[in-house]
Amino acid sequence: MKFIETRGNDGSHPKSVSFSEAILAPISSFGGIYSPESLPELGETFLNAHLTSDYKTLARAVLTAFEIDIEADIIDKALSLYDAFDDPKNPVPVVKVKDDLYVSELWHGPTRAFKDMALQPFGTVLSSIAQSRNENYLILAATSGDTGPAALETFKNQANVRVACMYPDGGTSDVQRLQMVTEDANNLKVIGVKGDFDDTQNALKRLLASDTFKNTLKEKNILLSAANSVNFGRIIFQTIYHIHSYLELVRQNAITMGEKVYLNVPSGNFGNALGGYYAMKMGLPVEKILIASNNNNILTRLINTGAYDLRDSAVIPTTSPAMDILKSSNIERIFFDLFGEARTKELMFQLDNEKHYQLSDGELKQIQSIFSADFCDDDEGKQYIKDAFASGYLMDPHTATCFKAYDTCRDKPLKTIVYSTAEWTKFSPVIANALTGEVDAQDIDALKSIAKEAGIEIPAIISGLFEKEITQKTIIEKDQIEAEILSFL
Ligand SMILES: *Cc1c(COP(=O)(O)O)cnc(C)c1O
Repeated sequence: MKFIETRGNDGSHPKSVSFSEAILAPISSFGGIYSPESLPELGETFLNAHLTSDYKTLARAVLTAFEIDIEADIIDKALSLYDAFDDPKNPVPVVKVKDDLYVSELWHGPTRAFKDMALQPFGTVLSSIAQSRNENYLILAATSGDTGPAALETFKNQANVRVACMYPDGGTSDVQRLQMVTEDANNLKVIGVKGDFDDTQNALKRLLASDTFKNTLKEKNILLSAANSVNFGRIIFQTIYHIHSYLELVRQNAITMGEKVYLNVPSGNFGNALGGYYAMKMGLPVEKILIASNNNNILTRLINTGAYDLRDSAVIPTTSPAMDILKSSNIERIFFDLFGEARTKELMFQLDNEKHYQLSDGELKQIQSIFSADFCDDDEGKQYIKDAFASGYLMDPHTATCFKAYDTCRDKPLKTIVYSTAEWTKFSPVIANALTGEVDAQDIDALKSIAKEAGIEIPAIISGLFEKEITQKTIIEKDQIEAEILSFL
């Protein structure tokens, strides 16, 4: 399968690339991204054939259908990382919570958030490509808390890859920070930046776009890449669990094969939702995809009004920080798929230059035939956490935003798959506050009080973090980032 450019061709980039090339250099002409030229057909025949397949078998079949240029033994090695999830036989459990609402838990991997679903296999794939091409890569990552730990975990000790991971000092939870600063491997560098996530992300974007930085790396025989969520190497792994979750509902006799469901996704950069969109286009019986946001409700406004407006807007810190985003990058691939490259380029240029765009009525109708959206503020989220807990389900604040969309966005009584993107351990102070009213608890205290309240243990992988030695101690001003990375190399 070939990957083509969302904003058309500028004469200096290849018009189409293979999967491995799209992974190594995701950015195409005019600042666009590579998107699949076509999608495989994975309708009812495929679904029936995989009704009894385990997760890895299904994953292998989906990847095969995409005809990616990765050797079968590398794919097998990458997928074997799901064996280290809590239940190797079923890395993504789907549990009924109430009525039509089923939760697909995407956080049973090593860093306890859904980023592992894609990044775990992605690390092996990328390192293998780099080795077979005899190239060395520097992966730059900027994180608000979940991508960083997952990227470090997957690239730890991988050949031909080094990672420099920046996080906003004071802008992550204790658990997230400890997951990063206790990582100890020669090919990893963790950098705390004085500033907020936007400062960190902007620094990353400047470096990725800087020719002098790239040339300095070239002299050291190092190429630059990014593991951010526009990388199709992540998206492809995020189509699989949507199909798996649907099949789980069939296996649990919650639906019959072919029956439509809602997918209900907590969204930031729209990678998870894009995976659902592709699954739907490939033939998964989906009524609509419900997009949940927090108070940074730019996606809700886009889907409800067709307007994307960044004028006078600033990121609002919320209790679901992985969704505190203004520019949702993967929307671009939806536009490309629905409206074509010329219109996508026009819209994206308008956003860059004028900070806003407006979809036409016809375009908005198309979007609304696929997506519905609502946002959930922190107080509402807290109430959903509390109510779910009272009925026996413990969930994190990102997952909670979906419960609002479940209440407000469905117009048919269909089974709904809510995607849970983080374990309770990653955002414990917010959850402890919802459950017991305690405020400003440190993570360790919040973890203990939730565990007590719920009658469960803190997972060892989390409690162990508080005992581990801190090996990554760098905290710097944002203008020192480039020098710090070069000295690491
Ligand atoms: C990254 C993340 C999200 C947002 O996912 P996108 O694919 O960027 O939309 C939601 N919840 C959690 C916990 C995350 O880590």
